[in-house]
Amino acid sequence: MSNDSKKCAMDGCTCTPPQGQKYCSAYCETAKGSTKLECDCGHPACESQKL
Ligand SMILES: [Zn+2]
Ligand SMILES: [Zn+2]
Repeated sequence: MSNDSKKCAMDGCTCTPPQGQKYCSAYCETAKGSTKLECDCGHPACESQKL
């Protein structure tokens, strides 16, 4: 596994987390166990993916 991806660690989230963080938000850290592919963290990158 490489670490060069800067993307949020939650599947379905396309946000870039703050440096040193695996998740862009507390929402993603909480939702990581769920199987939903739709991210609801509220960041514009994810909002634009939702229908
Ligand atoms: Zn997101
Ligand atoms: Zn995220």
